[in-house]
Amino acid sequence: MPQTIDLRSDTVTKPSTAMLEAMTTAEVGDDVLGDDPTVIKLQERMARLFGKEAALYVPSGSMANQTAIKSQTESGDEIITHQDNHIYHYEGGAPAGLSGCSMRLLTGDNGQFTAKDVEAAIRPTDSHFPQSRLVVIENTHNRGGGSVWSLDRIREIHGVAREHDLRLHLDGARIWNACAVSGLPPADYAQYFDSVSACFSKGLGAPVGSAVMGDHDLIRRCHRYRKMFGGGMRQTGILAAAALFALDNNVDRLKTDHANAGKLARSLGEMPHLRIDPKSVESNILYFDLDANYMSAKELCDKMDSAGVRMLAIGPYRVRAVTHLDVSSNDIDHAIEIIGRIVRAR
Ligand SMILES: *Cc1c(COP(=O)(O)O)cnc(C)c1O
Repeated sequence: MPQTIDLRSDTVTKPSTAMLEAMTTAEVGDDVLGDDPTVIKLQERMARLFGKEAALYVPSGSMANQTAIKSQTESGDEIITHQDNHIYHYEGGAPAGLSGCSMRLLTGDNGQFTAKDVEAAIRPTDSHFPQSRLVVIENTHNRGGGSVWSLDRIREIHGVAREHDLRLHLDGARIWNACAVSGLPPADYAQYFDSVSACFSKGLGAPVGSAVMGDHDLIRRCHRYRKMFGGGMRQTGILAAAALFALDNNVDRLKTDHANAGKLARSLGEMPHLRIDPKSVESNILYFDLDANYMSAKELCDKMDSAGVRMLAIGPYRVRAVTHLDVSSNDIDHAIEIIGRIVRAR
């Protein structure tokens, strides 16, 4: 039985032998007391990379986003974001549950909106209304098919936000993928945001962890909320070492994942019963739709699973595939062969 080609998510990667070696040899201390040297090294490096005063290592991307939201809002505030954003769908209702914030949801292609959309959503200053406080952008955009935001569009939104005294947060779980596509360094995006989150456990292949970046005051507040949310950890250097290893070894190779996703999309686009525009695939995430009279997404995923390819059914007729560092170009060729066999059988 050949190995399963797992395209469900870029979170399924397992730490390599070299990464595990870096973890077991890491210098550690008690990070809650602030003296884990490997965590300090990682946080300083992330602050530099994103052009911010400070960074904080946290256990998950959700905690990075939620400490940033909690630090910049009050109960009764409103967050302006896209209706397809991760903070709205996939973080357990945390903006409401932890920060008491409502969300004003914008529409727009590929998970993106415009400065005009933001301006139209801002509430008047009047005690009837929730207080507009924070704009959240996701780059690359997960449900938007891994789409990459243009810097111009971000700059325009920044202009409107500043004019109205709103703060800006970047959910940069996959900012590394955006940088690989645009060729821009993380700081070019981060300059327009008060807070930024970034994941080590997606395309970078670390087993655990994210970071949140901002000015000293903001990161002090995030530090307090990390503790409150239960994310203060002790000899955390073991995990931070994996993140440092990922920064050294797994950033430049993201282009390979994007090429693999492009190849998969082009082949799927030529298969019967499946619908995808390969030009819409910008990074490592792709979605395709099934003809409704063919079979459901779940049926197709079950068939693929039995044949050694795993993808996620995310709607009745919609399937997601994500490429990552544990999937080679050869694996993609194999996956294409297997899916081709299934869809041509019927
Ligand atoms: C994965 C992800 C997160 C964080 O998820 P965790 O599972 O909490 O680490 C945040 N935003 C986006 C866009 C993501 O894809």
